[in-house]
Amino acid sequence: MFNSLSDRLTATFKNLRGKGRLSESDVNATVRDIRLALIDADVATPVVREFTGRVRERATGAEVSAALNPAQQVVKIVNEELVSILGGETRQLALAKRPPTVIMLAGLQGSGKTTFAGKLARLLRDQGHFPVLVAADLQRPNAVTQLQVVGDRAKVPVFAPEPGNVGGHDSATDFGEGTRSFGDPVWVAQAGVGQAKVRQYDVVIVDTAGRLAVDENLMQQAADIRAAIQPDEVLFVIDAMIGQAAIETALAFQKSVDFTGVVLSKLDGDARGGAALSVASVTGRPIMYASTGEQVKDIEVFHPDRMASRILD
Ligand code: GDP
Repeated sequence: MFNSLSDRLTATFKNLRGKGRLSESDVNATVRDIRLALIDADVATPVVREFTGRVRERATGAEVSAALNPAQQVVKIVNEELVSILGGETRQLALAKRPPTVIMLAGLQGSGKTTFAGKLARLLRDQGHFPVLVAADLQRPNAVTQLQVVGDRAKVPVFAPEPGNVGGHDSATDFGEGTRSFGDPVWVAQAGVGQAKVRQYDVVIVDTAGRLAVDENLMQQAADIRAAIQPDEVLFVIDAMIGQAAIETALAFQKSVDFTGVVLSKLDGDARGGAALSVASVTGRPIMYASTGEQVKDIEVFHPDRMASRILD
């Protein structure tokens, strides 16, 4: 991902090499090339506008440095502005003062939520935590089983309603004695968090349902789960390959679940990815993780500065 953006920006900087100072037309040409590279990479229009505006202002301004030639200065400015649109500082997971830390996952169906749930659980387990997964996605017939498979791979337990009971039957399962329908995802999420407390797990990751497109019922369900379990973090998982729809989807989820952080999934794909890069800037929420493959180990903590350097490498 971002190979083409990376190549385009590098080519732009090459044109500036060897110049003693930048003329107004050099700055104009550079900013135009950067704008086109960002647009071609699918970066959202308002983000492109803000980005190029800031680069122009700073490149034209009096940022004279003895150590850097003009070309290096432009690279430095673009690098800093990229870090800024990607969210600035690396944002660590907010752990609850009194465990368990509750993490809710939200996003469209197919965005990579369930896969990410396993990855995050495994990452936290490797860091010495005792995480548990809760299967509150009762929309998709296979979602509960899929989370169980993911949990097995991550070697992390899963609290899940028994598949046979998903339609709404009271019975004893991993949750202990249930008194309400297992078909109710809000209750499943709440019961899962309750059980995690009783059994002294220190992190609970709650997988929720997604639909193929933004949908009122789905949004209400996600909002109800959020209100019921009061999570410490709500992570919005977005498929980096969905293109411009990323922005609209992110804003809709922000409105309903007010997520605290973003997970970019499928960053191993070869799509342009710029729309996903715009999500932090458009929503003001940091990108916290990148999901980079189908295996449980394919997860990275997202560092805006490292991603910017990778793009400009
Ligand atoms: P959910 O519906 O949001 O829970 O999405 P899933 O976790 O089921 O993922 C949907 C599909 O995308 C599955 O086929 C996953 O194997 C695949 N997938 C998830 N994350 C990644 C990723 O980071 N890279 C790649 N290449 N595929 C992924």
